[in-house]
Amino acid sequence: MQIIRTKANLIKTISTFSKSGKIIGFVPTMGALHDGHLSLIEIAKSKSDIVVVSIFVNPAQFAANEDFDKYPRNEQDDLVKLEASCVDVVYMPTINEIYANNSSTTISVGTIGKGLEGTFRPHFFDGVSLVVAKLFMQVAPDIAVFGAKDYQQLMVIKKLVKELDIPVEIIGAPICREADGLAMSSRNVYLSADKRIIAANIYKILLTVKEKLLSGKEVKTVLLSAKNELLAVGFEKVDYIELRDAETLMPLLALKSPARILVAARIGGVRLLDNLEV
Ligand code: AMP
Repeated sequence: MQIIRTKANLIKTISTFSKSGKIIGFVPTMGALHDGHLSLIEIAKSKSDIVVVSIFVNPAQFAANEDFDKYPRNEQDDLVKLEASCVDVVYMPTINEIYANNSSTTISVGTIGKGLEGTFRPHFFDGVSLVVAKLFMQVAPDIAVFGAKDYQQLMVIKKLVKELDIPVEIIGAPICREADGLAMSSRNVYLSADKRIIAANIYKILLTVKEKLLSGKEVKTVLLSAKNELLAVGFEKVDYIELRDAETLMPLLALKSPARILVAARIGGVRLLDNLEV
């Protein structure tokens, strides 16, 4: 496994692989790796010859009041996991390597990045789009794998590559969950033991929403009662729980296929995201 920290070395290494006809698979991450990340790597391995994983906590996607400084960073643990997963290249650039001092170019993805996460994290998708576009230029992958855990992000990235003509195939990977249903996330370590137990209700409630919608109950009523259930079990705030068109992410007032329920709720100061196909 090669560990590369500079853009120049990365580009040199990748071009050697590409020249010998290897298919490059890419999994961008912010580290603090868990089985959800590793499942993306397995998908990348099954579809490519060389797997590149990046670890970069991207300052451009954090607002001033968010957890950039305390975001979990476990470089040594991550490298052990990546080695065990037979990853070929780990790219761990510094902030300066990604953003030059006088860098001023931005990317704005428009409507798909508004609403849902975009309402609560207004600069998030511009920050994500910028770093992902830059990483795509540097890694030049044939395929890249993103988790459906961050469903709006997956849709934003698909639109980004389509509209910027970036020649990479985006593959969406299913959500990996803990045994009690909680979607795996690097931020789950912030949860205290008692909040962690309550947190699992987010998936249980999503399943009941799906069941009720499929049985023909009114969307608005079902979503309102789910919000109240989340508050009743101990979530402090529900940022949103919505039914959206699974491709355009436009709001749905009545169930139609393909649809997705998306939720963000806060517990113990931790913001949890989840979603479910209906
Ligand atoms: P992050 O390190 O949180 O930026 O995530 C890196 C990638 O892993 C993104 O494509 C996420 O959607 C994906 N990911 C994170 N958690 C999960 C999960 N529980 N299941 C599947 N993919 C995930």
